[in-house]
Amino acid sequence: MEFHQRILSLIEEQESWRGNCLNMIASENVVSPSVTRAVASDFGHRYAEGMLAGKDGEGMQLFDRFYQGNRFFDKVEAIAIRLSEELFGAEHANVVPISGVVANLSAYYALASYGDKISALTIPAGAHISHGKVSAAGVMGMKTIPYAFDNDEMNIDVDGSKKILLEEKPKIMVLGASVFLFPHPVKEMREIADEIEARIVYDGAHVLGLIAGKRFQSPFEEGADVVTASTHKTMPGPQGGVVMCKEELSKKIDNAAFPGLVSNHHLHHVAGYAIALAEMQKFGEDYAGQIVKNSKALGQAMHESGFKVLCENKGFTKSHQLLLDVSNFGGGKEFADQMERSNIILNKNMLPWDSMKDSRNPSGIRIGVQELTRVGMKESEMKEIGGLIKRVIVDKEEPEKVKSDVVELRKNFTKIHYCFD
Ligand SMILES: *Cc1c(COP(=O)(O)O)cnc(C)c1O
Repeated sequence: MEFHQRILSLIEEQESWRGNCLNMIASENVVSPSVTRAVASDFGHRYAEGMLAGKDGEGMQLFDRFYQGNRFFDKVEAIAIRLSEELFGAEHANVVPISGVVANLSAYYALASYGDKISALTIPAGAHISHGKVSAAGVMGMKTIPYAFDNDEMNIDVDGSKKILLEEKPKIMVLGASVFLFPHPVKEMREIADEIEARIVYDGAHVLGLIAGKRFQSPFEEGADVVTASTHKTMPGPQGGVVMCKEELSKKIDNAAFPGLVSNHHLHHVAGYAIALAEMQKFGEDYAGQIVKNSKALGQAMHESGFKVLCENKGFTKSHQLLLDVSNFGGGKEFADQMERSNIILNKNMLPWDSMKDSRNPSGIRIGVQELTRVGMKESEMKEIGGLIKRVIVDKEEPEKVKSDVVELRKNFTKIHYCFD
């Protein structure tokens, strides 16, 4: 077979497979037909390098471009910026970063110098790699100072961290995480940041859609200087990034994004992101509200099925995520593999008490319900899914047998909700 045909048929196989799966990776989502249209548009062939050039009488961003041909894209990017500022309460937004990591790197590059200190969670406690030396923070030569973490609360231990921060005085304090069950103590950390003159970068990659729907915290209101994010996790846009900040930092942030780190900002994705923002403006509260109801319902169902779902005494979660300790079932690797055989797609994950050498078979499983919510599932389906997972792991039924019931359940949920189409 020709390679081009092979690729086209792999696309078909992927879509028919994942369309028959329960997709529960906490960092993924599906986009609406309008967003798909944007991503396939002519904007994907074009460049729009340039500088921001003030706002017009209606508050829409103007641009000073290097190439011709951007009369329509300028309007698209202006809308993406305006909606980002409105939805997230940002004084300034920049949609140039092409991913969450690039958004973080833009913030670090703007606010710190090579070799400065940065504080963040450890990776087992939920940090993203870009908070540490293996990724963006390391690229900036930064040394990560870990916060103290409260395993019972699954959150930053403010008092324990305060001692460390007053001593180490990092230039940047990162809040937000990849394992993110409960809002972070932004207000409390703001007071510490003021004492040591640090900037707070709130990494909302996972929870941006929940923030848009007003079902999580409001990081700017609580004291963040910068908010970075991916545009495709709970926020149902195409894969990309965004960095937002207080007005006083806007020049530095803009210059870090372009010309600093990005030359081509994937214009088709900016158009798709703008549409996703409009969807969240209209449907975000319903969407985010249902996500949190669903994650709590799934947590309850799994708890009743005999799984160790973390933070039972706190209602399991206030986000789209659940965390399970599956060390009593042989660890996360086998669990996730078995699930995939039954068309339930989720991931193994480290828990705060795991060490980095456990990363191949960590003791945890992370589950996200945002994509199932997007295709219209509610609490009763969550209960059903809890039962399907139990059949594979607890009752040890053949995963392939459970798979046929997964496919049956999924058949009724093919349309994307919370969008205009
Ligand atoms: C996913 C994630 C990122 C990185 O985003 P990409 O879009 O994958 O580059 C950054 N920070 C956190 C907390 C994340 O979970």
